[in-house]
Amino acid sequence: MVRVRFAPSPTGFLHLGSARTALFNWLYAKHTGGTFLLRVEDTDKNRSETRFLEEILHDLKWMGLDWDKDPVFQSERFDIYRKKAEELLEQGRAYREGEAVIFPVPDGRVIEVEDAVHGKISFRTDEIKPQVMIKSDGSPAYNFCCVIDDSEMEITHIIRGDDHLSNTPKQILFYEALEKPLPVFAHIPLMMGADGAKLSKRHGAVSVEEYRREGYLPEALVNYLTLLGWNPKDEREILSVDETIKLFDIRDMSDVQSRFDTAKLRWINSERLKTSSSSDLLPLFTESLREAGYDPGKMSETKLRRIIELYKVRVKTVREFPPLAGSFFSDEYEIEEKGARKYLEPEEMKANIAHFASEIERHETFSAAELEELCRRIAEKENLKPAEIIHPTRMAISGTTRGAGLFDMMEILGKEKVLERMNRASGSGGHV
Ligand code: GLU
Repeated sequence: MVRVRFAPSPTGFLHLGSARTALFNWLYAKHTGGTFLLRVEDTDKNRSETRFLEEILHDLKWMGLDWDKDPVFQSERFDIYRKKAEELLEQGRAYREGEAVIFPVPDGRVIEVEDAVHGKISFRTDEIKPQVMIKSDGSPAYNFCCVIDDSEMEITHIIRGDDHLSNTPKQILFYEALEKPLPVFAHIPLMMGADGAKLSKRHGAVSVEEYRREGYLPEALVNYLTLLGWNPKDEREILSVDETIKLFDIRDMSDVQSRFDTAKLRWINSERLKTSSSSDLLPLFTESLREAGYDPGKMSETKLRRIIELYKVRVKTVREFPPLAGSFFSDEYEIEEKGARKYLEPEEMKANIAHFASEIERHETFSAAELEELCRRIAEKENLKPAEIIHPTRMAISGTTRGAGLFDMMEILGKEKVLERMNRASGSGGHV
């Protein structure tokens, strides 16, 4: 039975690289019907903070990475580590240096590991210094407590980043000293920024939280991270979690570094948005409106969902929605300067808006199809291109040249609002 673990240190927010490590562990557990455990590596009391732990757990849940038992906290296990150190001291396998307990590393050995991702790797013990087990302040050193915990938790596969590769021979020495069976090691190559350097703040957003706030869907982030170092052996790039679980194996992971590519993540997010239903997206989209200062509460759910249907295919992240759709929710929306200069200031544009408005006013009913027909007729009669009516009207009712199809927008806004804004823009009707 496979047992894997994710072992975050709660000294900061959940980094994308760590999230990816957690994801691969989780996928492997799900694929094999195994167990996915959490261990909180909070031995550094000065740098560990509850708020970071809460954030990490929240982000894991947001990504859908559920764990199987209560997390293990290293800070609650200091006595266990000290007891194990005492045992090794008594057996003459360790020595004291002041308050610290040290493990002597034998010279002249070659430690070979069959890594599930990299294949055979060997390390020479001559290059490894004596290892601290317990520091002089009584706290355990990472390599020592990691081995004690992994063996007590009966971890079968240690899937972690390449940055821990150099710890592996030291940990193997501890497994030997403690007479515990070795797990399988799988070191996944690190995630790099577009420039090939290790992904860091310098490259922009690196925490899961930032992507959540930017309006990425969890399934899109998970989909994207899955493809950084693994693929389904075909060209598919949009994969559901269930499909991934079916196909995933750590042995198929690439042993070369991958590059984080925001454009690709945005593309996956937009594809995911397109195929999500407006009812699934409703909470996210309304929240983004509230955050942008709009009050969607007054609008019916049917109308809201119609707006979401129009915009989910036009935005790459949920965050891009409020600036495009603000005019549905308030009269105080932004007006694009360039668009205003081109489509609202020239007299002939004002005239086109006024003409369209007067036809609308005379027309009894008000539907997208009828508005389109009306616009086309005016264009024909006046020898105008439909765009010469459509662009200024869109600017007049929404303040932007982008956004959904004009006639749909007009129908949703309603006749009264549309005429009020068109009259104001054309300078007729007394609303200046
Ligand atoms: N706390 C370590 C880290 O965050 C975990 C290392 C491991 O998985 O063994 O990098």
